[in-house]
Amino acid sequence: MNDSKSIDSTLSICQAAKETWDVVVLGGGIAGSAIGIHLARRGLSVLIVESKRFPREKVCGGCLNARSQHFLETLGILPERLPTDAPVIKELHIRLRNHVSRWQVPNMLSVRRSTLDIALLHQALDSGAHCVMETRGQVSQQTSRSPHHHRIDLIPVDPSCSTKTAVSIDARRVVVAAGLSRSPLAMDKTWDVKIAKGSRIGCHCLLESDAQEQFSIEMDQVLHMLVGSSGYIGVCRTDGGFLDLAAALDPVAVRAHGGIAPCIQSLLAETGVRLSSQMEHASWEGTPWLTRSSWPAARNGIFLVGDSLGYIEPFTGEGMSWAMAGSEALAGILFKSEREEEQWNEWVARHRRWSQSIAKWVSRQARRPTWARVLLTGLDWLPMLRKRILKKAMQ
Ligand SMILES: Cc1cc2nc3c(=O)[nH]c(=O)nc-3n(C[C@H](O)[C@H](O)[C@H](O)COP(=O)(O)OP(=O)(O)OC[C@H]3O[C@@H](n4cnc5c(N)ncnc54)[C@H](O)[C@@H]3O)c2cc1C
Repeated sequence: MNDSKSIDSTLSICQAAKETWDVVVLGGGIAGSAIGIHLARRGLSVLIVESKRFPREKVCGGCLNARSQHFLETLGILPERLPTDAPVIKELHIRLRNHVSRWQVPNMLSVRRSTLDIALLHQALDSGAHCVMETRGQVSQQTSRSPHHHRIDLIPVDPSCSTKTAVSIDARRVVVAAGLSRSPLAMDKTWDVKIAKGSRIGCHCLLESDAQEQFSIEMDQVLHMLVGSSGYIGVCRTDGGFLDLAAALDPVAVRAHGGIAPCIQSLLAETGVRLSSQMEHASWEGTPWLTRSSWPAARNGIFLVGDSLGYIEPFTGEGMSWAMAGSEALAGILFKSEREEEQWNEWVARHRRWSQSIAKWVSRQARRPTWARVLLTGLDWLPMLRKRILKKAMQ
C-alpha cells in the first residue's frame, strides 16, 4: 500500500487543548512519527504537532540502510506501506575528479521523504496517535497548571485556520523531534547547541527522470558520491521516477559561486559528470549548518530525539537510522522510572560517541580531496578493510 495522500489534523488546536496529553511530540518527521507509533502502541495518549502540510519534501538523500530497513519493519512500514518502485541501491561509486572507487554495499532502498514521512505519520495515526498539522509547537515560558505538566504553545501556520492566535496545551512529557533547527526550544537559551567550526550546509533537489534518460554515469542501482573542493553531492534514482540530489556544501563556496545551483554546477564540472538537462531548472532547498550537537538530551520533562540532538554531515543512511533507534530507545525509557531524564542523557552520550565517530572520520577525509583519492586508491587494494569501514559507516 502507498499512503501518498495528504494528512489532515485529527483534532483542531482548540480540541487538542481540552486534554492533558501523556506525550506531545513536536515534529512529525522520522523521529517524531516513529516515537508516536511506539508510544501509541503502549496505550499512551500522544499528540504529534507538525508545522508543515504533508506530503512535503525535506533535505535528505532518502537512502535507507539495512538498519533503517529493520526499524521500518518493526514500525510496520516495510514492506506494505512503501511503494514497490523504490529503487534498490547495490553499489556506491565515490568519484574524485577522474578517479572512481566502486564499492559493493549491503542493499539500500531509495525513497523520497515525502513518501516515507507520510507513511510513518499514517502509521502513527493508525496506532492511536493524534496530530495537528500546519501548526508550530513551542515549549512555553509560562508555567503549567501543575509542576508535573509542561506547557506548549501551538501556533497555527495555515492562514485558513479558524484559530488565529497561539493556544496553550499541557503534556506530562514533551518530545522535541523538530530536526536540526530545534525551533520549539528557540526561546529558551539554556539548551546548549554547539555548531562545529567549518560546518557545511545541506542542499537537496529532485529531478523528474524516466528510466530511459541517458546520463554520463551508470544510474541503475548505484549511489554516486561526487566529491569536489566545495563539498560533495550524492545522486541516485528514487521512487516516482525521480533523481535525488543531496549535497553538503561549504557555505563560503556557495557564497563565492553566487548560490547553491552554480556551486553544484561547478562541483559537477570538477568531477566531469553531466546530469539531466533539467538541472538548469532545478529548485534547491537548503538547511542551516549541519554539524552540531545539543546538550542536555533531556531536562525538566523535555526530551530531544533525532536531528534535534545533533548531526554529523555524511549521509550514508545513518541519519534516519539514528532517528529511529533513538525513538525506539526513548519510548522504552519514558514513564518507566524516576530516572528517565538521566537514563536518556546516558543513552545519548553512549550512542553518540559510538555511532558518530566514523561519520566524523569520513567527513574529515572528504574535506581533503587529494588525500581522499590516495586513501580510496589504497582501500581499493584492501577489500577486507574497506568492508569493515563500510559496515561501520552504514550501520
Ligand atoms: C543533505 C542531506 C542528506 C541526507 N541523506 C540521508 C540519507 O540518505 N539517509 C539517511 O538516513 N539520512 C540522511 N540524512 C539525514 C536525515 O535527513 C535526518 O537525520 C533525518 O531527517 C532526521 O529526522 P528527524 O525526524 O530528526 O528530523 P526531520 O526529518 O527534519 O523532521 C523534523 C520535522 O519537524 C517539523 N518541525 C520543525 N520545527 C517544528 C515546530 N516548531 N513545530 C512543529 N513541527 C516542527 C519539520 O517540519 C519536520 O517535518 C541527510 C541529511 C542531509 C542534510
